[in-house]
Amino acid sequence: MELDKDVVETPRGFRCSLCNVHVANKPSLEDHMKGRKHQKLCSMRAVRRCQEEHSVYVSGFKKNTCQTELAQYFQQFGPVSEVIMDKDKGHYAIVQFDQKGSTEATLLQAEHQLNGTTLRVKPRERKEFKMIPKKRQDFQNLHQVLDWLKPELCQTASVNEQMQCVVDRFQLGETEKKARGLLVQLLQEIFTEFFPDSQILQFGSSVNTFGIQSCDLDLFLDLENTKVFQARAKSSTEQTGEAMSDDDLSEDSILSDIDLSTASPTEVLDLVAAILRRCVPGVHKVHVVSSARLPVVKFHHRELNLQGDITINNRLAVRNTVFLQLCSGADVRLRPLVYCIRWWAKQKQLAGNPGGSGPLLNNYAVTLLVIYFLQNCEPPVLPTVDQLKDMACEEEECVIEGWNCTFPSQPISVPPSKNTQDLCSLLAAFFSFYAQFDFAGSVISLREGHSLPITSFLCPAQEEGGKALREEKPTKAQVLTPKLGSVNLLDPFELSHNVTANLTERTQRNFQRECQEAEKYCRSLQYQRKSTKGKSWGLVRLFIPHGEGMYDNSQDGSAEKELTISIPFRPELLPELLQSQLHQAGDLFRLLWFQKVCSAVEKVFQKILMCRSVSSAAAGTEEMEPSTYDVGDDVESWTKGAATVGSKRPLSPNGGNTSVSPQGKKPRLEKEVKSDLHLWSWTQSHMVWAGRRKVKRELVRDINGRPEAANVELEVQVTENIVNKEPEVRNPLEFKVQAQIVGGTQSTQTKLKVQPTSDDTGLFQDFFHFLEVFLPKMVAILLEKEV
Ligand code: ATP
Ligand code: MG
Repeated sequence: MELDKDVVETPRGFRCSLCNVHVANKPSLEDHMKGRKHQKLCSMRAVRRCQEEHSVYVSGFKKNTCQTELAQYFQQFGPVSEVIMDKDKGHYAIVQFDQKGSTEATLLQAEHQLNGTTLRVKPRERKEFKMIPKKRQDFQNLHQVLDWLKPELCQTASVNEQMQCVVDRFQLGETEKKARGLLVQLLQEIFTEFFPDSQILQFGSSVNTFGIQSCDLDLFLDLENTKVFQARAKSSTEQTGEAMSDDDLSEDSILSDIDLSTASPTEVLDLVAAILRRCVPGVHKVHVVSSARLPVVKFHHRELNLQGDITINNRLAVRNTVFLQLCSGADVRLRPLVYCIRWWAKQKQLAGNPGGSGPLLNNYAVTLLVIYFLQNCEPPVLPTVDQLKDMACEEEECVIEGWNCTFPSQPISVPPSKNTQDLCSLLAAFFSFYAQFDFAGSVISLREGHSLPITSFLCPAQEEGGKALREEKPTKAQVLTPKLGSVNLLDPFELSHNVTANLTERTQRNFQRECQEAEKYCRSLQYQRKSTKGKSWGLVRLFIPHGEGMYDNSQDGSAEKELTISIPFRPELLPELLQSQLHQAGDLFRLLWFQKVCSAVEKVFQKILMCRSVSSAAAGTEEMEPSTYDVGDDVESWTKGAATVGSKRPLSPNGGNTSVSPQGKKPRLEKEVKSDLHLWSWTQSHMVWAGRRKVKRELVRDINGRPEAANVELEVQVTENIVNKEPEVRNPLEFKVQAQIVGGTQSTQTKLKVQPTSDDTGLFQDFFHFLEVFLPKMVAILLEKEV
């Protein structure tokens, strides 16, 4: 197939420059070229080209010349279809003709005069047609901020100073704080009119000491006292049979329209929105978002150029804001660290979520990650939330919605830390800490100051995680469990809430990868020492936006990385039975899960892709003989069948210090399974990866089935179809797969190294690219469905 001019061949397949898409092989490329996106962009480009050929660029006309005048003048060269003027009307215009010939005729004329001035008429510039990435605007901002701060940062004497400088430049100014305070005061007055005894409170970054200029204004409208007021008013009306006085509840009061004790949050917020719209000057774009975890009214204040959010059931957020204030006051190093790490996370596209929720970290989560890290420094910089609870006196006791939120009200009650590390080394240590963190295998608890084993949360009703929750929340009959995800970061107070449940696996991977990169960079002199040659150094390089190559990656073994496929541990997606087995396995859960993954991997190669195993003799090593275990086999049967190659590193969260399972039932696994490696060798004589999508489409049409429902079966049929129809390749592809479980010192996952052992026909690259997507997907399906 001759390559289209939009397509370039790359070492990893093909790239379509028009759509900015990479595909692994020719069949996928063919599919892409026929696909809707490519076709649509092709036709858009054709239209754009045609418009360019049919139009001329005109400038030099008088300031108030209008489109009609220009159209009338250029009619003499042929029918004009459109005149587009620049935004400021007066600098330039594009005059578009119906026919290409008119453009040529216009350009042939040496001079053009309109309203007594000479026009400049040029051919229209041909711009390369490109898809503009949606985030382009954001990219520009990231650059602008860095460009603006760079000279100042480079002039400072140390990273410590640079970090302080970031705080000084970003923090909320006094004037802005005052303006916010005035708006809140105004809102308080207005809301009191409608909701007697209500209270409006600021929370979030405006007041938590981590706010940046133009951060949003988070407000909590506390209607508890209004409810009491309303109930009192109601009973008094019932007793006397009279309406209340103006000072109490008059019949035309807004409260006569709604019963706060029974109204839904959305109903109340609709009312709040109506008040904002009608009574608060400068407020516009008011709307209720009732689908959010906590429904909210959003508004914008024109003069202050401020985005505001009002919630009515967010008492916990008000309290965690006070907690953040306390942490800031307890150790002065927290603020510079949080400002720098928030900015770093934004530059690296790890944090942001412009719409509020999204797949990235939010600022609250980033702040908690920093606090957790500081609790884990040696010696700790900040105490745990449990320790803080013990430092509080009786009057400071606080329980909200059943959650214990007790901590001292003043930082003076928190003893100073014995840790003397400076900001520069703490920042570097933050990156090292998370570069090696097992996100998939642990649940981060600021309350306890250490991570809890994820297995405790797989059967929470009986075990540790559940116990912790029950103790803290005795009023709830049903124990709530956090929604597990790629990163599990428990809220310090609402212990059933995973603050990072929204994060995608990709964000988690990127976060860890960026931490690893930053860790490496922080070890270099460029980080630690000011450049004597005026080059960027310290934070400046650290803050370079994502994807712009601040670090030298030439020695990171990327060639080897390329042949590795990763299967992440996602316990929340596993069936209940397997979750409970993992729970029972305690610290050995990784090995148990690894067994299941190996079993599924074997199925994918053997049953779905119909690869043939190479006999142990041929492979020259006993370990290469594939074992025959089922996903549903129990631990013992697997331990006997598994090929033991050797354990390399501790896999328990405590670095190998395996604890007894909660019920005292230590599975026999501990003594018998030492293997965190598995090896197979396979051959493949058909190009089972090529054109699968097409075959699948045909099969689905034939059997009129739904591909989702019959996934594994359908994939088997696709392979059979290819094997039966396509001829065998000249020399079969021979390859080996080495599976290894890692965790503890990195996110729990199975790493599959795939390597060709015989590849005369050069098929391996294509096959590997196919496996990169196919294998994790099929393993996930097998684990999910077949236990
Ligand atoms: P910024 O507005 O500058 O991004 P912020 O800390 O105000 O930072 P918001 O997303 O506006 O962040 O959230 C406001 C407050 O709501 C937080 O300070 C926190 O108290 C609470 N909050 C935000 N996200 C969560 C969450 N995922 N879980 C629990 N509470 C949260
Ligand atoms: Mg906020």
